[in-house]
Amino acid sequence: MKVLKFGGTSVGSAERMKNVAKLVLNGEQNLVVLSAMSGTTNSLVEISNYLYKKNSDGANDVISKLEIKYANEVNDLYSSDEYKQKGMELIRERFNYIKSFANNIFTVFEEKIILAQGELISTGMFNLYLQEQGVKSILLPALDYMRIDKNNEPDTAFIRENLNAILDKNKGYEIYVTQGYICRNAFGEVDNLQRGGSDYTASLIGAAILADEIQIWTDIDGMHNNDPRFVEGTKPVHDLSFDEAAELAYFGAKILHPTCVLPAKVNNIPVRILNTMEPTAYGTLISGKQCSNRVAAIAAKDNITAIKIKSGRMLLAYGFLRKVFEIFESYKTPIDMITTSEVGVSVTIDNSRHLYDIVEDLKKYATVEVDENQVIICIVGDFVASSKGYASQIFDALKEVPIRMISYGGSSHNVSVLINAEDKANALKALSAKLF
Ligand code: ASP
Ligand code: MG
Repeated sequence: MKVLKFGGTSVGSAERMKNVAKLVLNGEQNLVVLSAMSGTTNSLVEISNYLYKKNSDGANDVISKLEIKYANEVNDLYSSDEYKQKGMELIRERFNYIKSFANNIFTVFEEKIILAQGELISTGMFNLYLQEQGVKSILLPALDYMRIDKNNEPDTAFIRENLNAILDKNKGYEIYVTQGYICRNAFGEVDNLQRGGSDYTASLIGAAILADEIQIWTDIDGMHNNDPRFVEGTKPVHDLSFDEAAELAYFGAKILHPTCVLPAKVNNIPVRILNTMEPTAYGTLISGKQCSNRVAAIAAKDNITAIKIKSGRMLLAYGFLRKVFEIFESYKTPIDMITTSEVGVSVTIDNSRHLYDIVEDLKKYATVEVDENQVIICIVGDFVASSKGYASQIFDALKEVPIRMISYGGSSHNVSVLINAEDKANALKALSAKLF
């Protein structure tokens, strides 16, 4: 069985949903993971914000707009009166539930329950559509098998056991439809895998059922070798190794959620990124195979903060780095890049929520300087192993760009440089011109 995941734009309208149905009906048994229709989760966040502020008028305003949109989509999606009515019932039920929080602001409202409605609606609508078309399909509620533990990490044993049990009980369907993104937490409450988490759902499912392949269907023909918003003439990269894909997803290539690579890698399940608008294009195939001796792609990660920590005491001292890392750890803030010298260390973070406290704590041991508005440019490929010439090409391309930090050799698939945000476009263009 294959797992096919479609994002918000791919199911963004009745027309788009019909197109998805064509793609999943390929004569094989498929498990289809859907996001909410595009824009929906954002609207649900907006509704929740109003509810936090106990502004029911504000919430109801957004709710009605969303409900009208869905009523129109339902009308366009189904052709028979019977199914139009079933579709209307489905959305009426979901929207009445959302409204119940707005109309009685004394009920304890749970944001996560509101955020879950988008995927519940899209999968319900899609499954009904397949049934109207006479397809033998079934809806598998993600809340019955997708679970995170106390550390908000997927409970893979629970997922494997429960999902396989559900599939065993429901053999012989052509299409299994399920929700991306949503899950339960260790307390059994409705929760989610964070924004953009439907890719993660697909990958966790693929690992749990040992799928033949995980397909991530989006609206671009694969991962590109540079950011098409800044560089002209970028091309899809046909083959990436799991490690390269993980680096790229993490360092900015927006089309795959970074968490999604690991479950596939651990179980060696190929991940294919495909384009709903151009279904026959090869896209990108992520697998255990490593293409040797080439630069695969360049990506940029914005909103990086660099922190320089200088201390005379670092000279010949052991335990200094441990102290530094402990401070970041105590604020649950991951470090991305790190470079060291005899008198100091520079690190970058992309989550600056606790920046002030971190800096205050660091100042107990060292002099601290902070540079905001930095960008990590990440060059991914296979080079350190056979590295003649790549470093010189990279730095030759960047000769006009002031470089704040360099990270080389951390893995054999990644060279990262930290630069000012204002130099990003030029750096991306120069690297593309030199390396491809
Ligand atoms: N609907 C969720 C979001 O917009 C999850 C997803 O689309 O992957 O973040
Ligand atoms: Mg997405």
